[in-house]
Amino acid sequence: MAGGFSPQLLEEIRARVDIVDLVGQFVNLKRAGENWKGLCPFHAEKTPSFMVHPKKGIFHCFGCGVGGDAFGFLMRQDRLQFPEAVRVLAERAGVALPTERRTEGDGQREALFKTMAQASEFYQDALWNRPEGEGARRYLDSRGIAPEMARRFVLGYAPEGWDHLLGFMKGRGVTEEQLVQVGLVLPRQTGSGFYDRFRGRLLFPIKDGQGRVVAFGGRAMGTEDPKYLNSPETPLYVKGQTLYAFDLAKPQIREKNRALVVEGYVDCLMAHQHGFTETVAALGTAFTASQLGLLRRYCDEVITFFDADAAGKKATQRVEELLEPGTQGLAWAVNRTGTFGDGSALRLKVALLPSGHDPDSFLRKEGAQAFTQRIGEARSLLAYAVETAIGEENTTAPRGKATAFARVALILAKVTDSQEATELARDAALKLGVDPTQLWIEAQRLQGALRKPAPATAPAPAGVNLPSAERDLVSLLVQNPDVRAALLPVLVEEDLAHPALRAILAALKTVTAESPEALMPHLPGDTERGLLAALLVEERAWPDTTPLIAEYLKRFEMRRRARQIRQVSQAIAQAQASGDPALPQLQAQLSDLQRQAEELRELAARPN
Ligand SMILES: [Zn+2]
Repeated sequence: MAGGFSPQLLEEIRARVDIVDLVGQFVNLKRAGENWKGLCPFHAEKTPSFMVHPKKGIFHCFGCGVGGDAFGFLMRQDRLQFPEAVRVLAERAGVALPTERRTEGDGQREALFKTMAQASEFYQDALWNRPEGEGARRYLDSRGIAPEMARRFVLGYAPEGWDHLLGFMKGRGVTEEQLVQVGLVLPRQTGSGFYDRFRGRLLFPIKDGQGRVVAFGGRAMGTEDPKYLNSPETPLYVKGQTLYAFDLAKPQIREKNRALVVEGYVDCLMAHQHGFTETVAALGTAFTASQLGLLRRYCDEVITFFDADAAGKKATQRVEELLEPGTQGLAWAVNRTGTFGDGSALRLKVALLPSGHDPDSFLRKEGAQAFTQRIGEARSLLAYAVETAIGEENTTAPRGKATAFARVALILAKVTDSQEATELARDAALKLGVDPTQLWIEAQRLQGALRKPAPATAPAPAGVNLPSAERDLVSLLVQNPDVRAALLPVLVEEDLAHPALRAILAALKTVTAESPEALMPHLPGDTERGLLAALLVEERAWPDTTPLIAEYLKRFEMRRRARQIRQVSQAIAQAQASGDPALPQLQAQLSDLQRQAEELRELAARPN
């Protein structure tokens, strides 16, 4: 697991990385004594149980049991392999890495990132420096996109023609196979050869959380079909998990404690151009739960925009997207009033724009101040969806009332927070002129029908089902240097039955580290790292450890004798069967061992 990096190197990186700083980029952390606390980024929760311990350089969640050091955090957070996490943190810490340390898999992935970066440069060059980019430059101008904004978003232009990019990349030694892998070229339908995917389009690079280009969105500048042509899913790009401009907007989202979510690339650019630098685009009309989860880590409020005509339909659709049963407790995601008592829930709101407007056209026509006003008037998405369902039906007629009743019940059925659902039901029932209980019962009935057979559940906290004596021992070892010094030489892995505790013991024995925190990279997996973090954060007040050490020494000494007795007994049985002349010697050894074991037992029975 240490991936070929020397322990000294890993220790140096760990020591230089401020874990509060690192985690704080992704989680809104608040100070809690010596430590920092926040909402766990790895499971949905309303009250913070995610702790960061700067002194030990570790994090741990009491809710879902994950834990680890800075490397482990980044691996989980950005879905990185260990060597990648080491590289990112080494760079952050200004620690030089030996260059030959690369595995083949990393090399391939990195080659793909490099390919995307080179393609992006090619497209930028075509936009700004080539005669064929003239049309695209004029187009930007006509859309009111300032050149400095276009450069900040590293826009590019894919020239007309079938093989401009292909030729350029081949000249750089990039293979056709790599280009196909990242979705930049396609194999020809007839005959052999390949051709460029993007032709005659304005290109918007889509970046990952680390600011690397992973995909492109291509916009037609005339009436060509389709209006938008995007990269397919590739090893670098998974749809629905990325937000456009997130790398640029992240600091502002934290700063302003809110995110504005728009649909299109141009909407997003225009918002930034007007000073709304906390804006991201959802990359498509659907806004996914995982995108929302990403934003949740940085802010308490997310505002989406709908044009007044389509608003009702879209709000309902969005609520459905985000409240899909089975997406595991998104109750925290949406709420009616906009605030929960503990202030930790995300406020998901909708801002309405006049008919026919999107943020781009609205900003150009009405300006930043009017946009700010619309944001100020934003309302809770969920309450809005319920109101729309009622408003769209003619509730004075029995049939319309019945339809509205059914629609509201369906929305309520998907709200997993029961308090939230109760309040919504009460408001809706009042408007519909029905009994709230009736509405509530219908919602419950639908909820049962909607529930998927195997609902996703949060992972069980590490540490459950652990033999408590073994756990106590490893906890003692991890927290006390004197216990380690006394017990590690006599302990063997077989002394522990639980595999994860065994792995921690093995690491303690083989890795000479000053502090057990440094063992993290040497553990085989997430389970072990989570468990070690849990043991490290326990901070039990140990009494004098001397009698404990003596007790453990006795116990393990007895176990070792028992093991030896078993082994010698087996050897005797074999020797008897085969007529081995060593038999008398073995028998003498056995009686010696038995006598020693007896003495130990007597010793153990005496009070200390
Ligand atoms: Zn958690």
